[in-house]
Amino acid sequence: MSSHGTLFIISAPSGAGKSSLLSALLKDKPADMQVSVSHTTRAPRVGEKDAQHYHFVDRETFKQLIDQDNFVEWAEVFGNFYGTSKVVIEQTLAQGIDVFLDIDWQGAQQVKKLMPKAVGIFILPPSKDELERRLTGRGQDNTDVIKGRMAQAVSEISHYNEYEYVIVNDDFDLALADLTAIIRSQRLTLASQSHTHNGMIMDLLAE
Ligand code: 5GP
Repeated sequence: MSSHGTLFIISAPSGAGKSSLLSALLKDKPADMQVSVSHTTRAPRVGEKDAQHYHFVDRETFKQLIDQDNFVEWAEVFGNFYGTSKVVIEQTLAQGIDVFLDIDWQGAQQVKKLMPKAVGIFILPPSKDELERRLTGRGQDNTDVIKGRMAQAVSEISHYNEYEYVIVNDDFDLALADLTAIIRSQRLTLASQSHTHNGMIMDLLAE
């Protein structure tokens, strides 16, 4: 049995619940799913661990990684640099593992150009009021940062129509079920099933 994982791009405005959905999806550490750990120049938040949430690097190191053609995409978001390692995602996909990129619309556009089979999923909050409530409730950023992120949210949301799927994260469990359904349906496409069950299909067709 041969297989090749699917690359999923997940984007959302800050506060839409993207990280919580991905954490819930991978809670039981499924062997066939992995989130790509990005490099960033932003400082770690409380509770964030190096190599688990991000590879935290300084600007000099990030620039070197760009020069060494290390990233499949990179972008500046909120004044910090973020990038996705090319080799890691290629190796993971080749093992038949689905890879999830938690990246912004700029990164999504770059990935889509290089890897057109990547499946884009955009997560929307149910309303602006709810988005603001979630951003304030998080308690990790000051008021100015929250104001900035609200403005950025509108800009991020304006790209929702560049993705194959849209999930509205109002009821969390429903949104998680939607995400799971997208992944499952992707694994059942002709292209995916032909790849996964190539030997079996050949057997079925043999005279
Ligand atoms: P945060 O700093 O809150 O973890 O992330 C801020 C934004 O940067 C989020 O929209 C997140 O999806 C995006 N981001 C995280 N990693 C990457 C990456 O490797 N590339 C790009 N383009 N965006 C990223």
